[in-house]
Amino acid sequence: MIPVNQPLLNGREKELLAQCIESGWISSDGPFVSEFERRFSAYIGANHGVAVCNGTAALETALFAAGVSKGDEVIMPAFTIISCALAAIRLGAIPVLVDAEPDTWNMNVSQIEARLSSKTKAIMPVHIYGHPVDMDPVMAIAKKRNLIVVEDAAEAHGAEYKGRKCGSIGQISAWSFYANKIITTGEGGMVLTSDPEMAARAASYRNLCFRPEKRFYHTKLGYNFRLTNLQAALGLAQLDRVDEFIQIKRRLGEYYRQGLRKIKGIKYQVEKPWAKMVYWMYCIELDSALGLNAQNMMEGLKEKGIGSRPFFLGLHEQPALHDLGLFKGEHYPVTERIAQQGLYLPSGMALTEKQVDEVVVSVSDVIRRI
Ligand SMILES: *Cc1c(COP(=O)(O)O)cnc(C)c1O
Repeated sequence: MIPVNQPLLNGREKELLAQCIESGWISSDGPFVSEFERRFSAYIGANHGVAVCNGTAALETALFAAGVSKGDEVIMPAFTIISCALAAIRLGAIPVLVDAEPDTWNMNVSQIEARLSSKTKAIMPVHIYGHPVDMDPVMAIAKKRNLIVVEDAAEAHGAEYKGRKCGSIGQISAWSFYANKIITTGEGGMVLTSDPEMAARAASYRNLCFRPEKRFYHTKLGYNFRLTNLQAALGLAQLDRVDEFIQIKRRLGEYYRQGLRKIKGIKYQVEKPWAKMVYWMYCIELDSALGLNAQNMMEGLKEKGIGSRPFFLGLHEQPALHDLGLFKGEHYPVTERIAQQGLYLPSGMALTEKQVDEVVVSVSDVIRRI
């Protein structure tokens, strides 16, 4: 079986975990947590890092820190993980959607303007599958309308937009270190910002909104979203190798592309001239004219021992969100199409070129069989 993902944990991971156990520092109070915050924020280019327990919590913490609250609207892509909508909803805010672009599958920034209202408070670009969103127009709208830009960079560690790292462009960004992300702590996340007040609000929300001067006296409702020293130990070991991981991903991504471009009816993200993408996942969209959808392809690949995963289903097609009265009758045609026709192929760092060849041949076989 060629797995869809597999982390590489053969650096200092064991050594640093052993140090946690030997020293007894296993909670969020251990020294690796702040070291990880310092090193990751420096790597991306932000002044402050606030480590949290996962990427979903990071998104909610970032929106809280940005001052999003009841009745505010947050503009986000329809084509993303439900975590983005949840973050807004949990704070009493309303997610407002734009469709995906057909070529990068990122939020179509030309549709943002039409979705603005007097309640709009923030824009949440999501760098889908490691390809940066076209940030200049987003930042221009935000500046003009005094909005906060909260980047969801969970899939884009090390990706760059016009030479700047994703996650350092908006006022605040949210990260995930889930096991399939470019660097991992198993479960984990972080909020990055260069605004000291936002950083302080994020740190407070993560830690039950304790007040430094008056502990156990709370003026806001927070969470325990803390990351442990054990997880931060993994994060530090992974961070040692982040540039190497990105190099591997980019090399394999290029190699996939060489193979896939010979197959008719397949689309993939193509790096824009202003982008450095990191190929978080190797994704394909099947042309509907081929007569098969992502589900058919995934079943065909499974028979050949190849793991794959479907694309996101649009937020506007989620029953749980309809139950809240959201997105009734809304349609986002690109999102709807790629949700049916898109999938990702094995994308692990341990993948060999021979395995990529096998995947490419298998994709071609499944198409031919239909
Ligand atoms: C993985 C991911 C998240 C959520 O991260 P978790 O750590 O799994 O909660 C959020 N946004 C995007 C775009 C992601 O890919």
